[in-house]
Amino acid sequence: MSSISPQQLSAIATEFGTPVYVYNGEKIKEQYQKLVSAFQGIDTRFFYASKALTNIHILKHIDSLGCGIDCSSINEVKLALHAGVKPEKILYTSNGIAFEEIEEAVSYGVHVNIDSLSNLEKFGKKFGNSYPIGVRMRPNILAGGNLKISVGHEKSKFGIALEQLDILKEIVTAFNINIKTLHIHTGSDIKDPDVFIAGIKVLADLVPHFTDLQVIDLGGGFKVPYEPDGEETDMAAIGRKLKNYLETHLFQSGKKYQLWFEPGKFMVSECGYLVTRVNVLKESHSVVIAGVNSGLNHLIRPMFYEAYHHIVNISNPTGEEKIYTVTGYICETDTFASDRKLHEVREGDLLVFYNAGAYGFEMSSNYNSRYRPAEVFYNNGTAKLIRKREEWSDLLKNQVPLR
Ligand SMILES: *Cc1c(COP(=O)(O)O)cnc(C)c1O
Repeated sequence: MSSISPQQLSAIATEFGTPVYVYNGEKIKEQYQKLVSAFQGIDTRFFYASKALTNIHILKHIDSLGCGIDCSSINEVKLALHAGVKPEKILYTSNGIAFEEIEEAVSYGVHVNIDSLSNLEKFGKKFGNSYPIGVRMRPNILAGGNLKISVGHEKSKFGIALEQLDILKEIVTAFNINIKTLHIHTGSDIKDPDVFIAGIKVLADLVPHFTDLQVIDLGGGFKVPYEPDGEETDMAAIGRKLKNYLETHLFQSGKKYQLWFEPGKFMVSECGYLVTRVNVLKESHSVVIAGVNSGLNHLIRPMFYEAYHHIVNISNPTGEEKIYTVTGYICETDTFASDRKLHEVREGDLLVFYNAGAYGFEMSSNYNSRYRPAEVFYNNGTAKLIRKREEWSDLLKNQVPLR
């Protein structure tokens, strides 16, 4: 298990200041290898869901491992291209976007999954069968850590509803569209392998309706452990079960399909650390608050999804354990953790938030006119700055003089 030690994190905080996001390149590699080995023996491709963490140095690192890149906006597609990723390794899984973005993605030659009947029809009118395309279906499966991150259920905005298959087929026939990929993405934080089996069953029923089909894309959503003794998705079990299903069902016809996945959190959650410093301690008889130099402007997951992030006081590893509420410095109730046991906290101590790689920096903002943190990439024993901390001019750069 590759991790960055408290001593190394403390040295990084001294060199680059706090708050700072730190990412471990070796951990990303370890996660990718777990995926590859779980699916050995079937033709599988992985596209890292880059919305979890888009720093171009992370994209380059992941590209160098052999993994593709999945994008949720045209700008993510452009970032991947900018990072040197080849178009055939880029996938754009759209949702609710303007047709112009699909045209732009096509002009770059990347794979595209379309998620609405109206965009599919526009696509057919413009491109006919000249550009193989994927369709994103809504599987009507409720799965994932909580409702905010469950995206496959029957009231979800994501994908084309299964019950609209007839209309979908009419559009495909009318414009002779080459449907290369069937895609679903059920949600995030999914541990149960059977959810992926349920997903592939939904797609397997659709397969006979699409004669050009080459790819079954099951999206992302693999769970990682957030708590020190938490469970992660049993990748090997998912691999075994899916392989078995493919061989006994889908491949029976003699035709083989490539299997695609879009792991985000699984690839980068555990590689990341947010290192903060304690600004203030407030002790009253009811609660002891440790206020850090960060907040929902840097790591919103605890406030947005009630996400758990493990916190360690790396400045006082042998201090007596006490109960704290850890809060941010934003003028909102930005509580990172309540009633959390930490080694005695003193003002100036470094508190580290674990699992901060996925949806951490990416969801950061300038709320309260604070700067976004710096990002540091740690690989082969060395720490390098990959994004500098914002500064005063960043807050003003897009505000234009009145004229
Ligand atoms: C967000 C997203 C993913 C990645 O989800 P994780 O839970 O981070 O693995 C994959 N595919 C699509 C289409 C997504 O929107």
